Amino acid sequence: MISHVLPTYNRAAIAFERGEGAWAIATDGTRYLDLGAGIAVNVLGHANPDLVAALTDQAGRIWHVSNLYQIPQQERLADLLVDRTFADTVFFTNSGTEAAELAIKMVRKYWDHAGQPERYEILTFEGAFHGRSTGAIAAAGSEKMVGGFGPLMPGFRQLPWGDMAALNEAISDRTAAVMIEPVQGEGGIRPLADADLRQIRALCDQTGALLVLDEVQCGMGRTGRLFAHEYAGVSPDIMMVAKGIGGGFPLGAVLATEAAAAGMVAGTHGSTYGGNPLACAVGAKVMEIVAGEAFLAEVNRKAALFRQKLEGLVAAHPQVFESVRGQGLMLGLKCRAAPADLVKAGYAEAILTVPAADNTLRLLPPLNIGDAEIAEAVERLDRAAARLDG
Ligand SMILES: *Cc1c(COP(=O)(O)O)cnc(C)c1O
Repeated sequence: MISHVLPTYNRAAIAFERGEGAWAIATDGTRYLDLGAGIAVNVLGHANPDLVAALTDQAGRIWHVSNLYQIPQQERLADLLVDRTFADTVFFTNSGTEAAELAIKMVRKYWDHAGQPERYEILTFEGAFHGRSTGAIAAAGSEKMVGGFGPLMPGFRQLPWGDMAALNEAISDRTAAVMIEPVQGEGGIRPLADADLRQIRALCDQTGALLVLDEVQCGMGRTGRLFAHEYAGVSPDIMMVAKGIGGGFPLGAVLATEAAAAGMVAGTHGSTYGGNPLACAVGAKVMEIVAGEAFLAEVNRKAALFRQKLEGLVAAHPQVFESVRGQGLMLGLKCRAAPADLVKAGYAEAILTVPAADNTLRLLPPLNIGDAEIAEAVERLDRAAARLDG
């Protein structure tokens, strides 16, 4: 008999009842060191007092009003994002998938508005993940996600990851947009070289194609900059954000330049919950903390510490690990063993990690993890790896 919850997930037999910072406490009392952070979501850890205060303060005032009215919390969060990024305007969603969906619609509307509705092809990349809506799975095109859900939404073409020659070949003055993650998350913590991102920007400028960056996983301080594309010194026309921006409260956003958003006039898009006062009150607090220069400097310092220890871990277990990769606190261990086995061995050592494609184990701790917790994490990973040695 089918479970009452639709069985689309392979869940571990663990349930958590409480969290404190980088720790998630299970119903049996076990304290797990959380290097998954709900898949790069809990950027300030569990039960962060500032976020709890922002949420409960708003909860005592008003929860939901709809976008029929002004929402000051939404305007404040939009101000914070616009002040700190390339963007001129922001639309709030509840998830990354919804942000991807709007990004696709915005691209199509842009070209329709420009009198070229036939210019709808969006170039995407193998190993990409943009979410699970019909549009987002068509964009990523991975067999695992699209199987059985056809016919797929047309208008996407996947290119090999990091293959600049293929992009050069494919892009033309008929291309609507290029959509890419600066660091692939689900695809296995694969950073795009800064030079490649700069070249993609240049190709978009030459052809007029829009550059759409998916920073749902790599954004919000994860890589040590507020947004990962800042490293390359170029900016997109449209950007998707979610995961970390709500610190655990469901929230996403599409950021855009005024020019890219030209077609998105009243009535062209909407969401009942998107940008509701609870989500935006929390999001604004997350932004206030994470966008701070001192906070980001700490992320980079801790990332360097963590990375150095992980290099030692890889050297100590050459049969289990191959290399360390990633940027900031978006780290991956390329494995020789099966990442799923490492995740399981991690459960036995009370540490939470997340598998990814390309035989990679993801380490996505809260951005405010402590030095002692990083040391403890590496010890637990060492014991987990020892379970698989030989
Ligand atoms: C998680 C993710 C999404 C989808 O976000 P949801 O909130 O799960 O809908 C889209 N793009 C990237 C890069 C992601 O990591």
